[in-house]
Amino acid sequence: MSTVILKGNIIHTPTKEKFEIVPDGYLVSVDNEIRGIFTELPEKYAACPVTDYGDRLIIPGLCDMHLHAPQFVYRGLGLDLQLMDWLDTYAFPTEARFQDLSYAKIYYEAFADALAKNGTTRAVIFGTIHVPATELLMDILEEKHIGACVGKINMDTLSPDYLCETAEQSLRDTKQWILDTKNRYKYVKPAVTPRFIPTCSKELLEGLGQLARDFGLPVHSHQSEDIGEMQIVRERFPEYDNDGDVYDHFHLLTNQTVMAHFIYPTERELELVKERGVTIAHCPQSNGNVAAGIPPIRRMLNMGIKVGLGSDIAGGYSVCIFRAMAEAVYLSKLKWLESGKQDAFLTIPEAFYLGTRGGGQFFGKVGSFEPGFELDALVLDDAGFTTSADRLSLEERMERIIHLADDRNIVARYAAGEMA
Ligand SMILES: [Zn+2]
Repeated sequence: MSTVILKGNIIHTPTKEKFEIVPDGYLVSVDNEIRGIFTELPEKYAACPVTDYGDRLIIPGLCDMHLHAPQFVYRGLGLDLQLMDWLDTYAFPTEARFQDLSYAKIYYEAFADALAKNGTTRAVIFGTIHVPATELLMDILEEKHIGACVGKINMDTLSPDYLCETAEQSLRDTKQWILDTKNRYKYVKPAVTPRFIPTCSKELLEGLGQLARDFGLPVHSHQSEDIGEMQIVRERFPEYDNDGDVYDHFHLLTNQTVMAHFIYPTERELELVKERGVTIAHCPQSNGNVAAGIPPIRRMLNMGIKVGLGSDIAGGYSVCIFRAMAEAVYLSKLKWLESGKQDAFLTIPEAFYLGTRGGGQFFGKVGSFEPGFELDALVLDDAGFTTSADRLSLEERMERIIHLADDRNIVARYAAGEMA
């Protein structure tokens, strides 16, 4: 049996309404199953070693529900462009270079290092159309103990020649890749990944829906992100009045689906996503950067739709999910103004919940320290943010970390029950 006991100031959000805080507590996990948080260590664990983190904060690992690994190459660049121009100028030419495995190795290692250092313990990731590079990415994530769903991208229309596949070839390659990788890893698994509806033919969407069903795999894509994107979809699929209906027709909306953005859902689409149990990846930094818009997150939460946070590298420039938490609150305030102060903005505990348990529920019992959950945890040192004159509560210290912390504040990381 592998028993892990961490001592420190323990903070998590079993519900989105408030932080649950246990100062100077013991977090106990046996074989990657949390047994509880205790103010005094129960007698039966007395003989087990305790790792004492003193006055530091212990929180669940962070979940990044949407990002593009190859776009790590040009993060922080081209951010004065709008989505479609940005794709043509940066995304497509860069992704083409991942045909070269030695190039892919350099950037995928840097990418996985950045995720690990920034406390991302689970992630849902786009690769490129290239199978060898996508498998290399999966190998590297596995080595770093990052629990990830990774996609070989599929695109067979409205794409540059150098990234355009035929539907037949794309489906054949994807099926073989799924067969080769679905049982290969402990932490990583394949996800069916149509890039988005504009770059996929009916035949391709149909085949991908079939593969997702045949293999019981997660699905990952973009939905109702941008007015330009949605216009293309309406023209190509005039029989459907929203992106959700198109995906649903091809059986791509399930309780194992993550859809990024969802900025302009129709009423019907909101209901559909809720009914199917889809998780929405809210990517506030990206939504602003590519001038896509502000999604109605408060409405989704009120309806009980599952929502997590994504960095959307490189629409977003930072892999740090603390940034996504802070910016989710910031963007929701603009939405509050836009709605005539009707849609209440997000609170700090809600943003923390979205970045941990909100996304974590997609992976199972992940993102919180409730009994029965897996042990993904970060130990945070905020000593540099306080002076001897400060009298901050633990909740205030956590709020400050969300706004100011980066990888230097993460002093230890546990993934799936082990120090990673
Ligand atoms: Zn994206």
